[in-house]
Amino acid sequence: MQALVTKTAETTAPGELLSGKTNLIGMPFERLEGFLQSLGLPKFRAKQVWHWLYVRGLREFDGMDNIGKPMRELLKDNACIERPTVTDDQLSADGTRKWLFQYSDGREVETVFIPEAERGTLCISSQVGCTLACTFCHTGTQRLVRNLNAAEIVGQYLMARDILGEVSRDERKITNIVFMGMGEPLFNYDAVTQAGAILTDQNGIDLSRRKVTVSTSGVVPDMRRLTDETGLALAVSLHACNDTLRNEIVPINRKYPLRELIDAMRYYSEKNPSRRILVEYVMLQEVNDTPEHAAEMIALLKDMPVKINLIPFNPWPGSPYERSSNNRIHRFAKLLQDAGLSTPIRKTRGDDILAACGQLKSLSERGAREKVKLH
Ligand code: SF4
Repeated sequence: MQALVTKTAETTAPGELLSGKTNLIGMPFERLEGFLQSLGLPKFRAKQVWHWLYVRGLREFDGMDNIGKPMRELLKDNACIERPTVTDDQLSADGTRKWLFQYSDGREVETVFIPEAERGTLCISSQVGCTLACTFCHTGTQRLVRNLNAAEIVGQYLMARDILGEVSRDERKITNIVFMGMGEPLFNYDAVTQAGAILTDQNGIDLSRRKVTVSTSGVVPDMRRLTDETGLALAVSLHACNDTLRNEIVPINRKYPLRELIDAMRYYSEKNPSRRILVEYVMLQEVNDTPEHAAEMIALLKDMPVKINLIPFNPWPGSPYERSSNNRIHRFAKLLQDAGLSTPIRKTRGDDILAACGQLKSLSERGAREKVKLH
């Protein structure tokens, strides 16, 4: 049996548990096998535990009824099944639901569920805050506190699944996952891909790898790595189609300019010929929404298999931009569509619940919880 060490928040590494027990959530399957073996348990038990954790969603060892009591006691002494707790839960009139989840060190992130007719998308966070400072993004105004570990990322999914009342993989409420919450996922590559492997494992949660999308602002080297090492889907936060404007809106462009970004997208497309890359483009009034900007986008993307999501900007207090008018958005979309680019316009969702990414967390930090709770 492992010695239990008393820890304080100061001595605990990010994601490590104050209890000193090992959190089984987020551990790759092979490591779970090794952990159980280190406790003297046979390797085959890992498959059973994995099923309980991810298919049945158990939070206590007591419910694992194909595992004998002495073994469960051993697990209880040495391991735990830890998930974040809910510190805020808001439901929009349009069904969008936003949670603030808190981890054992008190840090909080946002997770958003967006129900649509054909699917349910969970937008999850990969970092607490963000080092990048995209000027349209509220999270960009918050400093980076730390990366999340795989357990904390998968924990957002498990919590959302439970709260939404999803009881089986045959009747999913969450069909798609997008890493579009707080943080740049490719700056937390190892934890994000480890979480991706767990979310798509066929003996567990079993989401299709096509339906787990990593969205990047353009971390070019890790886009190539993601392409080579995972089968996950790719989205790119583009938001501008010339370097001068993109340097301003998405500052990582100064390090990895558009030419390099487009090369990395091409690389992904060559390796995944049947897939389209999702391109996100936030519509900022008179900043990136003119016919000239549309022409630039057409020139940049016309030969690439992409789907372009035009996102009406979600203003937040102090934001330097305004949302493009509907007329300007439709004019922009029509120009792209006429050039043969797939361009649905994303409806704004959850306007009534502080839907701009990072807003809920800021409000929580200010201690000014003027909730707009609708349920
Ligand atoms: S858009 Fe993404 S990468 Fe840019 S500041 Fe916001 S969270 Fe960070």
